Amino acid sequence: MDGTVRTRFAPSPTGFMHIGNLRTGLYAYLFARHNGGRFILRIEDTDRERMVEGAEDMVYRTLATAGMDYDEGPDKGGEYGPYVQSERAGIYREYAEKLVELGGAYYCFCTKERLESLHGENGTHTYDRHCRDLSREEVRARLAAGEPYVIRQKVPDGVVSSYRDMVFGEISVASEDIEDGVLLKSDGMPTYNFANVVDDHLMGITHVIRGTEYLSSTPKYNLIYDAFGWERPQYMHLPPIMKDASRKLSKRYGDANFEDFVSKGYLPEAVVNYVALLGWCPKNNAEKMTMKEMIEQFDVDGISVSSSIFDEAKMRWLNGEYLKAMSEEEFFSVSAPWIAKADPDGRFDQREISRLMQTRADVLGDIPEKIAFLNEFGRYDLGMYEHKKMKMDVEVAKRAVKVAISAVEGLDVWTEDSIRTAVCLAAEKEGMKSGQVMFGMRVALTGQPSTPGGAMEMAVVLGKDESLRRLRFSDALLRE
Ligand code: GLU
Repeated sequence: MDGTVRTRFAPSPTGFMHIGNLRTGLYAYLFARHNGGRFILRIEDTDRERMVEGAEDMVYRTLATAGMDYDEGPDKGGEYGPYVQSERAGIYREYAEKLVELGGAYYCFCTKERLESLHGENGTHTYDRHCRDLSREEVRARLAAGEPYVIRQKVPDGVVSSYRDMVFGEISVASEDIEDGVLLKSDGMPTYNFANVVDDHLMGITHVIRGTEYLSSTPKYNLIYDAFGWERPQYMHLPPIMKDASRKLSKRYGDANFEDFVSKGYLPEAVVNYVALLGWCPKNNAEKMTMKEMIEQFDVDGISVSSSIFDEAKMRWLNGEYLKAMSEEEFFSVSAPWIAKADPDGRFDQREISRLMQTRADVLGDIPEKIAFLNEFGRYDLGMYEHKKMKMDVEVAKRAVKVAISAVEGLDVWTEDSIRTAVCLAAEKEGMKSGQVMFGMRVALTGQPSTPGGAMEMAVVLGKDESLRRLRFSDALLRE
């Protein structure tokens, strides 16, 4: 290797991609790009029982949507493939056998029954190293006889395995606390414990970036690097993202799925931006950042050792900032499908609705509900006209709606300004407060207690004909 930084994202296709997985991949991506290095995707599918159909495609889709382009991967190729672990079975076997030769591993023929008999009170057991010192001849004979076996790590006696994690600092584990764990299973598949080492080495990974669940097993993995005589990578372990004070986000419980957020109307770039902030604070304290800015700013010093809590309210806020910062045209292109949900026949002016929504929706998925009044209009509760502070009641509303109708029915130009001018003039002539007329008009136009805008905005969105139809309907309703 030539000193180029190489990081990898190694998801297991066992379900959807939750925000915590995505963040691990994102940091590996940002770190590689920040250092002008390469970012590699590897699919870890050796646990065949936990595989979920379609999950691998979801990984590709998610990375594409999130804007995390990788340089090497199953669908991209690269010099160090294959990049799917199930296609590397021969490689793991070869290296497991090599490790046996090197004295770092051994064949174990213990039966399931024997292993079960080792169970302690709490149901777990530590392997008693029964096969650790079998003679070469015996091993050869038992292999030749076709006895099933696994290959186990031969953890050296009396050493302390230490390394310096880039986030957590010095981590040490004494070898007496490390089990001679299985590296190659009887079905010939490697365990994660073995595959991660072989792959990271062969793929030239310089920095291993992953969750803290591996922080304390890494000394064990390092003993494998040492036994092979391989250079160890650097490690960056990341604290968990919590659902609340006591529970980690988990795909098992359907928590915080990236694709769900996108289908609920979050912008992928806003989710990615928010995810980046879960456990990392850039030096300039920026919150809203493009991918390019995150790449520039990314540095390990800003990564926190404590867990962070996933706060959807904060993500909503950030998403709203992204929406507000868009040009009118850009916002229209992303909001149009959501507007169409509430107005499928295009009866209303979609551009006006889009303009109205840009500052009022934090998430695009809020739009249909906010504009439901476009399609839903009928008899409503007249109590909505009551407003103490504005001195509004049904009697005042009757007058207000009349004034509104007379003010706007002759208008040729239908804009917020022209409607406002006409309504204010008419209110003054009738000796009413314009605020009262506007309030009455807004209720009369929508039949809703709260609306995403005032009377003028509602009238413009509805258009002149529909506005007048609704004002007349309300006038009649008030007089029943
Ligand atoms: N497949 C492992 C996981 O999804 C990856 C761990 C690692 O990055 O080494 O947790």
